[in-house]
Amino acid sequence: MRYDVLNPATEKVVRTIELADVAAADAAIERARKAFDSWRNVAPADRGRLLRRFADAVDADLENLAALEVENAGHTIGNARWEAGNVRDVLTYYSAAPERLFGQQIPVSGGIDVTFQEPLGVVGVIVPWNFPMPIAGWGFAPALAAGNTVVLKPAELTPLTAIRLGELALQAGLPPGVLEVVPGRGNVVGNRFVTHSAVRKIVFTGSTTVGKQIMAGCADQVKRVTLELGGKSANVVFADADLEKAAAQAPYGVFDNAGQDCCARSRILVQRSAYDRFMELLEPAVKGFKVGDPNDPATEMGPLISKTQLERVASYAENPAFQGSAPTGAGFWFPPTVLAPGSEEAQREEIFGPVVAVIPFEDEADALRIANDSEYGLSGSIWTRDVGRAIRVGRGIEAGNLSINSNSSVRYSTPFGGYKQSGLGRELGPDALTAFTETKNIFISTED
Ligand code: NAD
Repeated sequence: MRYDVLNPATEKVVRTIELADVAAADAAIERARKAFDSWRNVAPADRGRLLRRFADAVDADLENLAALEVENAGHTIGNARWEAGNVRDVLTYYSAAPERLFGQQIPVSGGIDVTFQEPLGVVGVIVPWNFPMPIAGWGFAPALAAGNTVVLKPAELTPLTAIRLGELALQAGLPPGVLEVVPGRGNVVGNRFVTHSAVRKIVFTGSTTVGKQIMAGCADQVKRVTLELGGKSANVVFADADLEKAAAQAPYGVFDNAGQDCCARSRILVQRSAYDRFMELLEPAVKGFKVGDPNDPATEMGPLISKTQLERVASYAENPAFQGSAPTGAGFWFPPTVLAPGSEEAQREEIFGPVVAVIPFEDEADALRIANDSEYGLSGSIWTRDVGRAIRVGRGIEAGNLSINSNSSVRYSTPFGGYKQSGLGRELGPDALTAFTETKNIFISTED
């Protein structure tokens, strides 16, 4: 089936691609299954070397990958370069892993007991449209390092960089079948990954609704699953914080990638005594946020991904307190928007657009109550000059990734993932590697 990939900044067709059907997905899974027999036995040093060469190929192609993402996803050129660089860095980080995938030697009586971390087989990586490159890399890099092969399904809307990454893997010398890229519909190709018995694990990033379906589908075969789902993260600003800095950085914390970020701080919680001052500082920062041509290096925010997404976001933003500006005409543009108090639905649901609610709180206990009053628990920030409070509140918020006096969430060497309905398991960092292995225990008798 032919599918027109659009540029969301212009609504023009960028490329027409072929979407895989179930038979094509099965063929890709079969190639990955065959490739696993040899890939798992490639010497650890050689597997590491191949992943490093893959990282080098990504680096050499960085400008091209970034340009593709600007065109296909409407990302700003600065973000798109960072995203391609992130794939390179994640591959480099895990290229050191094959030789460090240690087991244990455990003291027992009557012999020697050792454990091995063994690869699972074929891993299915299902990626959303908001960060097509990094999220693909967070799945395939540790999976490949641990000796698995991968079938990768990009989102329908944003397949182009994934297709290119598949080509670069081959150019770098990864054997055919080790990384199979299979563009297609979620309910066709994605679902086939879930139901096919040769796929031993699913790494899914996307909405909580689809994540639940995938988890239920995986239960049938007790298939391993890592889920990175939605978020409604709180940016908690105490009155003793550096308010200028907190207000200057708050727009980026929610409007980056047009708010289509699972870690977006889409609820700003401000201590009541500092509320008016914070709003005074926030308004010019929001109105000055540069929205426009994604290719202009000065641009801070591009378009939304699709017309559907634009309509959905607009439906939450009917009652703005103030807004920035956005281009009109072709493209899926929406201005950075701060909601007036009392927008109950918008304070609770993941909007996935450049819309933020600013909510007052009284004290530490009240801040924690509001921050945790969410089915999600992915990310969040705490702004205060009181170190003890920062740690207390940080430990009290039910979320996997918090930052203090900062809105950053992702570093390739540290664990990333959610509490509650934001997900299951962790990506990145050292922990992710063992999530792509089974632990095997072998006892060797030393008795006569
Ligand atoms: P989505 O759930 O609609 O789709 C995600 C992927 O799953 C796509 O590739 C889609 O084709 C596929 N899919 C859809 N239905 C499927 C099915 N029945 N079986 C198998 N695969 C299926 O999500 P989206 O709209 O593309 O992405 C936005 C969502 O992703 C947001 O909720 C966002 O918070 C979440 N997200 C989470 C993280 C994280 O790390 N926690 C990161 C980025 C995005």
